[in-house]
Amino acid sequence: MEKKVCRKCNADFIVADDDLVFYRKIGTPTPTWCPECRRVRRFVWRNERSLYRNKCAATGKEVISSFSPDKPIKIYDQSYWFSDAWSPLDYGREYDFSRSFFEQWRDLYYAVPQINVSNKNVENSEFCNVNSDSKDSYLISAAYENERVMYGNRVGANRDSLDLYIANNNEYCYELVAGKNCYKVFWGQDCTNCSDCYFIYDCQGCRDCVGCTGLRNKQYYIFNQPYDKAAYERKVADLDLRSRAGLERTRVEFEKLRAGQVRKFANLVNCENSTGDNLEGAKNCHECYDLVNGLQNCRYAVWGGYQMSDVYDASPGVGANSSVIYEAFDAGINSNDIQFVGVVHNSSNVRYSLNCYSSKNLFGCVGLSRQENCILNRRYPESEYGTMVERIKRQMMDLPYVDRLGREYRYGEFFPPEMSPYGYNETVAQEYYPIDQSVAVECGFNWSYDVARNVAVTKKAGDLPESVDELRALGEGILREVIECEHKGECNEQCTIGFKILPQELAFYLEHGLPLPKLCFNCRHYARVKLRNPMRLWKRQCDNQLRIKNEELTGDEKTQRCPNMFETTYAPEREEKVYCEKCYQNSVV
Ligand SMILES: [Zn+2]
Ligand SMILES: [Zn+2]
Ligand SMILES: [Zn+2]
Ligand SMILES: [Zn+2]
Repeated sequence: MEKKVCRKCNADFIVADDDLVFYRKIGTPTPTWCPECRRVRRFVWRNERSLYRNKCAATGKEVISSFSPDKPIKIYDQSYWFSDAWSPLDYGREYDFSRSFFEQWRDLYYAVPQINVSNKNVENSEFCNVNSDSKDSYLISAAYENERVMYGNRVGANRDSLDLYIANNNEYCYELVAGKNCYKVFWGQDCTNCSDCYFIYDCQGCRDCVGCTGLRNKQYYIFNQPYDKAAYERKVADLDLRSRAGLERTRVEFEKLRAGQVRKFANLVNCENSTGDNLEGAKNCHECYDLVNGLQNCRYAVWGGYQMSDVYDASPGVGANSSVIYEAFDAGINSNDIQFVGVVHNSSNVRYSLNCYSSKNLFGCVGLSRQENCILNRRYPESEYGTMVERIKRQMMDLPYVDRLGREYRYGEFFPPEMSPYGYNETVAQEYYPIDQSVAVECGFNWSYDVARNVAVTKKAGDLPESVDELRALGEGILREVIECEHKGECNEQCTIGFKILPQELAFYLEHGLPLPKLCFNCRHYARVKLRNPMRLWKRQCDNQLRIKNEELTGDEKTQRCPNMFETTYAPEREEKVYCEKCYQNSVV
């Protein structure tokens, strides 16, 4: 193995033996940034949730875009972008061996028109990004097949729900995090197959439960205590869940229960020799998160899966029948051997390219579809392509790009963050690694000053109705108000300061007896993201005290701490009890 010091954060990091084999196999130098800094460096290229009104440069049509109008980027409406009316090859250029590769790539990137948003087959859901096959939805992203869903991220096949984060196949749910197959669950996390519940955590197959944690197939439970049907209904009426005060009291009790709930060290299903969290069907994968359905020999990959092998440093979004991928985001569908790429699918042998599809042998390209043997969007005869690429790689080692902080980028580095068209605070980087403007600038990231828009607030969060009955009495007047977010733009959560309630949203609150939110949709999203553990691992020992069966022992001798060790996303200083798989399974009721 190799010991290194990260050129971005100065932390020590280790390149393991397996990794060295991988880097040798793909012919790239070992990384100079640590895994987490590399992840952030990719994240700053990914804006899923910051949307603006902008104009298509070809048709003049008003469109929603992930690029704000002040950016030096020409955008095309996506139907025009994918049409044959223009050719990205027209922006192709000769490689100049007297200038650094990244400089020339940047010039190309900012010349080629970009797609406004990345939606496919959506109906009445224009105010969304990275979204396919959705209907009548609003502000959902990394999303597919949703209907009438508002404010969701990483959501699939949900119906009539609001405020979801990592949620699949739910109906009539509100404030759900990591929820699957749920029906009328309000404020739920890590729950599957639950219905008619308020405030539940780590529950499966539960119905009619309020304020419960760690339950399996239970009905009529309140704060983990069983009731008969009549008593349950009386007690729920007493809790007064239709008022803010009642909800708040219930939440406080629930949080106390949740703090004491035993945690499983990691959620690894059918995994072999793998570390990380929320993995299904992983073999020899390490430090991977939220990947399902078959993955082998992967490291530092996040969000995706679906049959992939030899994938390193890929996030957000990777997989679906793919192999040998390195330093990529939103990439991989039916792809092989792609490195230093973003939004590249159905392709092979692609390096340093963004938004390219169904292509082969690309180096430093932008926006190409169905092309072969291109460098900086210029076509080469197949016989010349390979030798040109080798020459450029050598030149990249000799003539690195130097960013504004003096850091060098040779072959083997992802795109410099300062070349990203987005501010750090517009991207998923801010969602998972929030920092403020001064730190961002100090670290060489861009910052967007357009995120908090000027808003004329007409109603303070504190003046919102206290109960759903008061809300009903207020009528539709509330739709005209600009409500001030309680965070007033003083947080690092892309706070919009003011927000409005949409008619279908109001109908949802009234139908389900829920009060209006006091935070804007961005601050609500950030609160949900914070409910999950970070993508980082610590070595810990199981916290369970096992009883020892021996008549001769007395007092403390009768128990012994479970010796099992594991890697977990729960930091050692956290107060929750964290158990190994076996002890956890014995603890759930
Ligand atoms: Zn670092
Ligand atoms: Zn806010
Ligand atoms: Zn906030
Ligand atoms: Zn244990």
